[in-house]
Amino acid sequence: MIEWSDEDLMIRDAVRGWIDAEVRPNLDALESGDLPPYDLLRNLFKTFGMDEMARASFRARQERDQAGSAGADGDGDAAERSGGGGAAMSMLPIIELCKVAPGLVSAMGVGLGLAAGTIMKRGTAEQRERWALDLLTLDKVGAWAITEPGSGSDAFGGMQATARKSGDEYVLNGSKTFITNGPYADTIVFYCKLDDGRAPRDREILTFVLDRGMEGLEQSRPLRKMGLHSSPTGELFLSDVRAGADRLLASGSGSGKDSARQNFVTERAGVTAMALGVIEECLKLSVEYAKTRELWGQRIGDFQLIQLKLAKMEVARLNVQNLVFRHIEMQRAGRTPTLAEASAMKLYSAQAASEVAQEAVQLFGGNGYMSEYRVEQLARDAKSFQIYAGTDEIQITHIARDLLSS
Ligand SMILES: Cc1cc2nc3c(=O)[nH]c(=O)nc-3n(C[C@H](O)[C@H](O)[C@H](O)COP(=O)(O)OP(=O)(O)OC[C@H]3O[C@@H](n4cnc5c(N)ncnc54)[C@H](O)[C@@H]3O)c2cc1C
Repeated sequence: MIEWSDEDLMIRDAVRGWIDAEVRPNLDALESGDLPPYDLLRNLFKTFGMDEMARASFRARQERDQAGSAGADGDGDAAERSGGGGAAMSMLPIIELCKVAPGLVSAMGVGLGLAAGTIMKRGTAEQRERWALDLLTLDKVGAWAITEPGSGSDAFGGMQATARKSGDEYVLNGSKTFITNGPYADTIVFYCKLDDGRAPRDREILTFVLDRGMEGLEQSRPLRKMGLHSSPTGELFLSDVRAGADRLLASGSGSGKDSARQNFVTERAGVTAMALGVIEECLKLSVEYAKTRELWGQRIGDFQLIQLKLAKMEVARLNVQNLVFRHIEMQRAGRTPTLAEASAMKLYSAQAASEVAQEAVQLFGGNGYMSEYRVEQLARDAKSFQIYAGTDEIQITHIARDLLSS
């Protein structure tokens, strides 16, 4: 794949039209946090039939499961998460939304890819029916909670949240932070360690599905943050929350840790598409500005230092677009990137988006520092790509470990 097809471009234009009509007029309210993103995302799903596609795809999966041929991890699951609409229908809305409000993609991606994705992979048919379908259609908001105040990059080793067996139930305690959708989540996929007397680092990771309103579960208000304001982020506090075994997800093909790692692959590859949206928009705005802003009797695009910025942005755009196309080709071939490949994609594209957006601010001068010109918002939003789903430094460790292990 070296270009989008005509059909892809039609989808892209339709999504663009929807964003112009529905998102841009609401950008201030999204940025201030006055407007949570969920109704807009539901509108997107309804407008493009993504809720119906998700429902149909879910039913097909349940039927396959009943017939005893449940799909293994991989392409089938990816299709289920994207509503079954193929690469263009999953990637293009991500890219287009990220040109305007990357937080919308984070809010949507965590609910679909991480919360519903985990339940689809590791849940029984009953658990999938009970929780995943409503998440996949966006009728409900999902969160995926691993990070704790004392353990971010060392997510599993340093995890303090516990599950203690009590009769047929588990008693859950602990706190989580920086949880996307945490303040509004109806359904929370919660990671903790089985308190079985072993040394904390050796304990088994368990994953539970929790519902808003359970006794002892507190969801904080949205945290104030640097950017990504259209994605609410919050804390969770659990104090003796009682969860039946029906809320415990199976370890599936591996441990709770393995399944979370599979999610990192999905999330990191997704950041590449998000980065492309930011880069394309910053480049477009920068070219327009370079052609129209005049100083010393000429347009600033005539200065070679400005041309260098534009040229580097274009190189980043081509490289990140190629990564997105490669990922689509892999999906079509039924191949999932390895953790190291996904980490390399994320490391490169997150840094590229952040650098391009910062350079766009610089190119716009004082206007770049003003909200009206939008590149400052994209620069703040893009910085988050270098932190969540594993920091740049953690991507480097995953790439290097893989290189050195062979
Ligand atoms: C907007 C946003 C949304 C998020 N959403 C979620 C969510 O939905 N669910 C969830 O569970 N988490 C979420 N997170 C948490 C995110 O995954 C963590 O912030 C991230 O993994 C980093 O952990 P930390 O913040 O504790 O930083 P730390 O782990 O404390 O890192 C501090 C610094 O040390 C560096 N460092 C750490 N280890 C090493 C090492 N081995 N070598 C070199 N340097 C190292 C880091 O790169 C960083 O620069 C979100 C975070 C943000 C910002």
